[in-house]
Amino acid sequence: MKATCWMGMRKVEVREVPEPKILNSRDAIIRVTNTAICGSDLHFYNGFIPGMKKGDVVGHEFMGEVVELGREVGNLAVGDRVVVPFPIACGRCEQCTREMYSLCENSNPNAWMAEKMWGYSPCGIFGYSHMLGGYAGGQSEYVRVPFADVGPLKVPDEVEDEQALFLSDIFPTGYMAAEMCGIRPGDVVAVWGCGPVGQFAIKSAYMLGAGRVIAIDRFDYRLEIAREGGGAETLNYEDVHVLEALQEMTGGRGPDHCIDAVGLEGHSPGPGFIYDKIKTNLYMETDRPVALREAILACRSGGTISVAGVYGGFIDKFPMGAVVNRSLTIRSGQCHVQRYMKPLLNRIIRGDIDPRFIITHRMHLDEAPDGYDMFFKKQDECLKVVLKP
Ligand code: NAD
Ligand code: ZN
Ligand code: ZN
Repeated sequence: MKATCWMGMRKVEVREVPEPKILNSRDAIIRVTNTAICGSDLHFYNGFIPGMKKGDVVGHEFMGEVVELGREVGNLAVGDRVVVPFPIACGRCEQCTREMYSLCENSNPNAWMAEKMWGYSPCGIFGYSHMLGGYAGGQSEYVRVPFADVGPLKVPDEVEDEQALFLSDIFPTGYMAAEMCGIRPGDVVAVWGCGPVGQFAIKSAYMLGAGRVIAIDRFDYRLEIAREGGGAETLNYEDVHVLEALQEMTGGRGPDHCIDAVGLEGHSPGPGFIYDKIKTNLYMETDRPVALREAILACRSGGTISVAGVYGGFIDKFPMGAVVNRSLTIRSGQCHVQRYMKPLLNRIIRGDIDPRFIITHRMHLDEAPDGYDMFFKKQDECLKVVLKP
């Protein structure tokens, strides 16, 4: 079958690989019909994720048709149309029973690798390094889905493929980012990053009662989507001083909640960026927490910093003094997608949101390398690429 494979820094190729087989009684094999490229994929594309091997099949946002089932998967049938959550979770361990699915204690066979870096291991993730399980991903024609009795959600007939696809990751991720803020009616929420995750965080913040959302990025076409479609006020950080602008917009107090939807590849026009570039190039720091630092400094005293952006390792110049002395709360996590799939599917059915607003490019799976290049370079006003095998 054809699959998108990581071949090194800024290099993916669509190659012929063996078709997946059922290995465990709770597995399913899915024929992928739609799969997307995520901002998280850019982190391994750009060489920030340890534990990638040449030839690894990538991709963790996908949906498709069930073609084969292990004997213990009683809730699905061959032919079902399903969307699959990116965290692989057993549904039975201590963390899964607390609905902390991205912390599943049973799904990462290479837990020892993650423990070295993080103390304990989170769940395994499709197509996202050997440190997170070495599972083949879904930017391919077929994929093996472990614990298929727990993860995949059947898509009802009235919902189109492309409406359901983002229940695999970015819609729940943006929603959880907003939910972690503990928004009270009328609160002001600032969102750093107007990529797909930021866009869903903006819409979700309003769904959860925010009075105002202020979105920050440097790409005008992304800010425009945040403004026109999302109803956010916007700041281009190349044109304004973000901290000053936010103060001015909030009566000198700062936003009640600040969402980091940027992550470890943060960019800034200021000298801080050069500092982080040099330190990461010398392997003296692993991530560039530009947006996170700014979000902490910008937040109202007593407010919440919600970190949806992915960080991998160790960061510098972390303003811990501001966190302690101004009673800030920091919340974070890889999204516990399984927890949000059904409620958010219901929101799609009710018409609260149509996730297709995010799609700017539809391409054949064969064109995955062009899709990655365009999404990375933000060319052709790219916001989200959907690949069709
Ligand atoms: P993306 O790359 O399309 O978007 C990131 C945006 O941040 C870009 O538009 C970029 O211009 C902007 N940006 C960069 N530096 C900035 C700064 N200093 N201030 C404001 N904006 C800045 O990616 P995406 O798909 O939207 O994903 C965003 C982040 O969320 C990534 O780190 C991704 O790994 C992470 N993510 C996390 C989860 C989770 O479960 N926690 C799930 C999916 C994605
Ligand atoms: Zn993703
Ligand atoms: Zn589990």
